[in-house]
Amino acid sequence: MSHLPPAVNWHFWPWCNYGCKFCFARFEDIPRADRLSKEIALTVPEMLADAGAEKITFVGGEPTLCPFLGDLLSVSKDVGLTTCIVSNASGLTEEFLDEWGHLIDWVGLSIDASNDQIHAEIGRGMRGDLARSRSHHLDLAIDAWNRCRSRGIRMKLNTVVCKSNLDDDMTDLVLKLRPERWKIFEVLPVEGQNDGDVDDLLLAEGEFQTWVDRHAWVANEGIQFVPESNELMRGSYAMLDALGRFYSNSEGGHSYGASILEVGVKKAWEQNCFFEDRFHDRGGVYEWGTGNVSLPMASQEGDF
Ligand code: SF4
Repeated sequence: MSHLPPAVNWHFWPWCNYGCKFCFARFEDIPRADRLSKEIALTVPEMLADAGAEKITFVGGEPTLCPFLGDLLSVSKDVGLTTCIVSNASGLTEEFLDEWGHLIDWVGLSIDASNDQIHAEIGRGMRGDLARSRSHHLDLAIDAWNRCRSRGIRMKLNTVVCKSNLDDDMTDLVLKLRPERWKIFEVLPVEGQNDGDVDDLLLAEGEFQTWVDRHAWVANEGIQFVPESNELMRGSYAMLDALGRFYSNSEGGHSYGASILEVGVKKAWEQNCFFEDRFHDRGGVYEWGTGNVSLPMASQEGDF
């Protein structure tokens, strides 16, 4: 694909306060000290928009840990981009959303299981809690979910299926949350990112589909159900790292190109390995519009 797809994921902030064992966005292979300054980072959304991007997704690490995420949202809206944050929920506080919520069209929030015993097992929790073999992720996530929904932000739910949650049933939880889109990812080994940690969580052939089959009926309830196998995930995202370099995971690890700040977006993109057919097969383009639309609240039961 010679031109940039309309949706770009910018992994602009590699640090995280969670300890997910399967995490493939650790970026310990890039020099942290060299990350973009705030001043330069704020020029990136306009560069992407000029090259044809329509939606920018801020990804980490954990994006809300970045002290200038709000400024990035602001410059993104200034150039007409639809904005999305993928978050573990920990930074989606009342204060953050009061200040910046009007600039956020979508939030993709990660929940992998119906209970925190499983979250603790896979490391989906604050590092301090995990050190005590526990996680409070579910309460944290549900509170953040409701805060976002009450502000009219459109909601995606992200779930990684691995050995630890293979037998779990999330349908009751999901029917209460009622995301617009539910993205289901098969746990993905990525060389140089999660080697060693992920091995015990990998699925055998057919196991991902078993989980998908058990949950797919939620699509009948108006929830877009979007499963992504390892094959669909490889080379199907336009991903930019914290140094402004497109990178691809098509070969098993991350392969980084030149920075858009050195060669421009067009040339940097031409060097990147990307499979347009997989991008479309996984539903890379959908009606993402803008946020603050009228949506039903997360639960009809009052206390969720
Ligand atoms: S919350 Fe996301 S970025 Fe942080 S460790 Fe988990 S998967 Fe990685």
